[in-house]
Amino acid sequence: MTKSKISNPDVSRLVEGLIRPEVRELSAYHVPDAGDMVKLDAMENPYPWPGELMDAWLQTLRGISANRYPDPEARNLKARLRQAMGVPVEMEVLLGNGSDELIQLILMAVARPGCAVLAPEPTFVMYRLLSRVLGLTFVGIPLRADNFSLDMPAMRAAIERVQPAVVFLAYPNNPTGNLFEPEDVRAILQASPGIVVVDEAYTPFAGVSFLDELAEFGNLLVMRTVSKMGLAGLRLGWLAGASAWLKELNKLRLPYNINLLTQVSAEFALAHREVMDGQTAKIRVDREALFTELSSLEGVTVWPSYANFLLFRTLSGRAEGTFTALKRQGVLVKKLHGGHPLLEDCLRVTVGAPEENQAFLAALRRII
Ligand SMILES: *Cc1c(COP(=O)(O)O)cnc(C)c1O
Repeated sequence: MTKSKISNPDVSRLVEGLIRPEVRELSAYHVPDAGDMVKLDAMENPYPWPGELMDAWLQTLRGISANRYPDPEARNLKARLRQAMGVPVEMEVLLGNGSDELIQLILMAVARPGCAVLAPEPTFVMYRLLSRVLGLTFVGIPLRADNFSLDMPAMRAAIERVQPAVVFLAYPNNPTGNLFEPEDVRAILQASPGIVVVDEAYTPFAGVSFLDELAEFGNLLVMRTVSKMGLAGLRLGWLAGASAWLKELNKLRLPYNINLLTQVSAEFALAHREVMDGQTAKIRVDREALFTELSSLEGVTVWPSYANFLLFRTLSGRAEGTFTALKRQGVLVKKLHGGHPLLEDCLRVTVGAPEENQAFLAALRRII
């Protein structure tokens, strides 16, 4: 065997020379291992499928040919999705390996030196992270501190100043849970020189959408995912918009980005959408109950939410300790404190099954 001319001690120097600084600066996206904890950190739907549905799904899987490549265009799934979600007929649909991949595709398509991406903050961290990795300038405009609504004068000024190629608006917003004023979103669509992505990951819990406004705004792209409605494990996101945009993005998509199991399973699941709709309706009801109980706790401030999670604030300096104590009692939530100045002392809890919500509340009561 011939030995490599690069010896081990040389490797780190080589890495430093070759790997771009914006990549080396990153810490890998950290997903904590929940073990057997009550998992209320990632906005997952807590409910399994009923037995008959599970059996029918497995029966469907028996018919697939795993030795063959999947349909590169996932035509059957796309057709089912269009119908299930009511995508306007004149609009195109692009599928991604989660909406995370769609965010990446959009940014890859516009990335050129000096190009800016804008979003209100705090918001979904992937917009910033993927922008930075691709060498784009990310500009975050703080939301209003009291109710996390859009600071429209600041948004307008920033759009004017940086002329963003892409604006991301999560509707409802993660991690704050609120819906921006539709009139503000429309004003941003009008003022923006580039693409405005309305990220509707939580639509199943909000019941509102900009899908029907695609025809009106040529620069609007609506992004959705099946993750929060109960299919997070399948990794499937979709983007709807004018074919002029999606045709270009489609060129950057890897040929078989939606694997066979996901195509078949998502198509099956969407044909039984009423099961997931029933689950999300239940989560919406439980969200209100959890909101009421959290609001009644001394030392806790909780914000209303249109998603399947609640943002809450502990007393000053207590978020870290509360997070750790919850974990020690077997409940995993998301610590937001430290992520953005507006999220000081904040934690986020996913609305789980009733017994999970009760376990969380009981643990929290013991702590505070
Ligand atoms: C969870 C989330 C996503 C990611 O969705 P995937 O399809 O699972 O990649 C996108 N946007 C927002 C705002 C989210 O909270």
